[in-house]
Amino acid sequence: MNVLLPDTVADACAMLAEAPNAVPMAGGTDLMVHWPMRLDDHERTYLDLSKLDELKPIHWNADELVLGGLTTYWDVIRDQRAGKEFPLLGRAARQVGAIQIQARGTWAGNIVNASPAADGVPVLMAYDATVVLQGRDGTDEVPLSSFYTGYKEMRRRPDQLVSAIRVPRRPYAFQMFEKVGSRAAQAITKVGVAVTHSAAGWRVVANSMAPTVCRCPALESLLELDMLVTSPEDLVPSIRKDVAPIDDIRSTARYRETVMARVLYYGLRGTCASFQ
Ligand SMILES: Cc1cc2nc3c(=O)[nH]c(=O)nc-3n(C[C@H](O)[C@H](O)[C@H](O)COP(=O)(O)OP(=O)(O)OC[C@H]3O[C@@H](n4cnc5c(N)ncnc54)[C@H](O)[C@@H]3O)c2cc1C
Repeated sequence: MNVLLPDTVADACAMLAEAPNAVPMAGGTDLMVHWPMRLDDHERTYLDLSKLDELKPIHWNADELVLGGLTTYWDVIRDQRAGKEFPLLGRAARQVGAIQIQARGTWAGNIVNASPAADGVPVLMAYDATVVLQGRDGTDEVPLSSFYTGYKEMRRRPDQLVSAIRVPRRPYAFQMFEKVGSRAAQAITKVGVAVTHSAAGWRVVANSMAPTVCRCPALESLLELDMLVTSPEDLVPSIRKDVAPIDDIRSTARYRETVMARVLYYGLRGTCASFQ
C-alpha cells in the first residue's frame, strides 16, 4: 500500500495531478470495508487527507453554511446552529451507522462514494447543496442535484478533491427526512426520502430508489401545482416517472414504491391542503 500524506490542500491537489489514480481517503469508512477481500486495493496509492486541517471546520457565511471536505457527521450533530437551521442534516447524520462511523465518516466521502443508499446525500440535495471541487488549476462548482451522471459516475475528475459543500441559508416552511431500513439503527436504507419547501420551491429527493440519489421532478411539480392527493396510491404514477427501484436482497421494487408513497403521503398530509 502506497500512501501520500499532504500537509496542505495545495499539496494534495498537486499530488493528485501527478498521480490521478491515487485514491483520496477521508474517514475510510467506505474504503476500508472491503479491504480484506479486495487484494488489488492493497497495491493502490492512497492520498491520506487526515492532515488537511483547513478542510475540517464548518463555516457560516451570511447566506450559506459551508461544510469542509473533511467535515464529519459528528461535526454537524454537535453544531447547534446547524441543528436549528438545517435540522435534516442532523437527522440524517444520527442515522448513519453508529457513533464510531458518525465520528469518522464525512459528508464528502458519502457524496463521492456515490451509493444509491447514501443517507447524507438526499438531505444535502433537498437543501440545494453545491459541491466544490478543487484541483491544482482551480475550482469547479457543481450542484449536487446534477453531480451524478449514472451509477457510481459523477462530475468529478480523478485529480479533484471535494474541498467544500455549500448549502444556501433560507427559511423553510417544511422539512422532512425519513429513512426506512430493516431496523431503527445500523441499517442500510431500503427507502429514503428528503423533502423541503422554501421560496425556491419544493424539493423531493429519493435514495435507494434509483441508481443514484436523485430529485423527483414529477413529485415536485405535483406539490407545486397543489394537485389533489387522497391516498398514497395517488402518488404512485409520479413515483414511477421519477425513479426506477430494483428488486434486490434488501427489498422488492414493489415494496420500495409502496413504502415511498406511504412515507410521502403521511408525511405531507397535514401540511399540504391538497393532501386529504
Ligand atoms: C458500519 C458502517 C455503517 C455505515 N452506515 C451508513 C449509513 O447508515 N448510511 C450511509 O449513508 N453510509 C453508511 N456507511 C458508509 C460510510 O460511513 C459513509 O458513506 C461515509 O460518509 C463515508 O465517508 P468517509 O469519510 O469514511 O469516506 P472514505 O471511505 O474515506 O471515502 C469514500 C469515497 O470518497 C472518496 N473521498 C473521500 N473524501 C473525499 C474528498 N474530500 N474528495 C474527493 N474524494 C473523496 C474516496 O476516495 C472514496 O471513493 C457505513 C459504513 C460502515 C462501515
